[in-house]
Amino acid sequence: AVEDADAAAALSRREASFARVQEHYFAEPPLIERGWRHHLFDTRAQSYLDMVNNVTQIGHAHPRLVDAVRDQWARLNTNSRFHYEELSRFTERLAEVAPEGLDTVFLVNSGSEAVDLALRLAQVHTARRTILAVTEAYHGWTVGADAVSSSLGDNPRALETRPDWVELIASPNIFHGRHRGAGSAPAYLAELDEQLARLDAAGTGIAGFIAEPVFGNAGGLMLPDGYLAGVYERVRSRGGVCIADEVQVGYGRLGHYFWGSAQQGVVPDVITVAKAMGNGHPLGAVITRREIAESFAAEGSFFSSAGGSPVSSVVGLTVLDVMRDERLQQNAATVGDHLATRLRALGQRHPLVGAVHGLGLYLGVELVRDRETLEPATAEAALICERMLQEGAIVQPTGDGKNVLKIKPPLCITRESADRFVDALDLVLATI
Ligand code: PMP
Repeated sequence: AVEDADAAAALSRREASFARVQEHYFAEPPLIERGWRHHLFDTRAQSYLDMVNNVTQIGHAHPRLVDAVRDQWARLNTNSRFHYEELSRFTERLAEVAPEGLDTVFLVNSGSEAVDLALRLAQVHTARRTILAVTEAYHGWTVGADAVSSSLGDNPRALETRPDWVELIASPNIFHGRHRGAGSAPAYLAELDEQLARLDAAGTGIAGFIAEPVFGNAGGLMLPDGYLAGVYERVRSRGGVCIADEVQVGYGRLGHYFWGSAQQGVVPDVITVAKAMGNGHPLGAVITRREIAESFAAEGSFFSSAGGSPVSSVVGLTVLDVMRDERLQQNAATVGDHLATRLRALGQRHPLVGAVHGLGLYLGVELVRDRETLEPATAEAALICERMLQEGAIVQPTGDGKNVLKIKPPLCITRESADRFVDALDLVLATI
């Protein structure tokens, strides 16, 4: 690595005052000063392909977004107790893109807030407490969102420390879970039936169920076919509310579907969104049916000081406009399919590549030491990320074994850049 005194000095300053619980990418991270489309540039004018930024949906420094924000900030920014056009324009658009029947929107500022609110909606609507959540998942850092997050990559003690209102069910991981393959839903559902029978016998009512409709945190794994339909049916037959956490995988990133739940062929009762919808501006939403929102309203009021502000609403509207005008979901489908095909081909030459998960521009390259035992190649994954940085591409591992390279670039990435990324990964894999 080239010595970069400025970057090293800036890193010590960061570590002196920024809480250390927040890790940074890379041992010697470049000091980033500019972004453009799917590229980042450091203070030495090195460019990097940004392969991890699923927040930056429409690309870095998008001129339309910059202009829209500048204009709105200069005219009006206030809170949603006031009456202004931008809020209803945005909530109308969200209700339009939402699945049939989900017509009521709450606006907040992050995914964690959206998940917390969704859990409260389920609990208030049903007047019960117990929430079913899958293991290996991450839903955020706030008290409620953290309670339903059991990913060991984020918290090694997660399984021992869940509060009593959280009922964990087995991670439906088609690659290394208890049951494997796209056809494994019946086996997972049979286990769930046993677990539910125990809860029924104990008189534990179900308030709801939360899961990502594509298993983002585990590395972009598709859920087994029919899994969500089976779980939703069981939860609904007990009066529970089904929450789809679309914070990572929804909003067009899957290319072939706008919502992850559509890939599973289900319509949730509540959807949580964030990240992509603000392109990095703090923006989150809960989209639900009117009757669920009304149950919540009957219990008291809800107000978020910055949620749904004029500036946030304009950001959200502009992101949707740009996605439509630049056909970004379609780009996610075509570039994503091409990228997945090329990544799968790497598996023929490099035994470390155990599988390529995901769809569209939400992909995961799972690295294993042995294709039989599926032993996670954790140290190798970290080394590959460091070497990819030298090759000018930013990529990071996820999953309980921190061995799945998550590939989720801005949706404006070109086929040429996708090729450059795979060529670099090919070279780096050959050195491991
Ligand atoms: N849900 C999922 C699926 C997420 O991946 C995340 C963030 N990684 C969150 C919720 C929380 O979002 P935020 O960081 O905006 O609070």
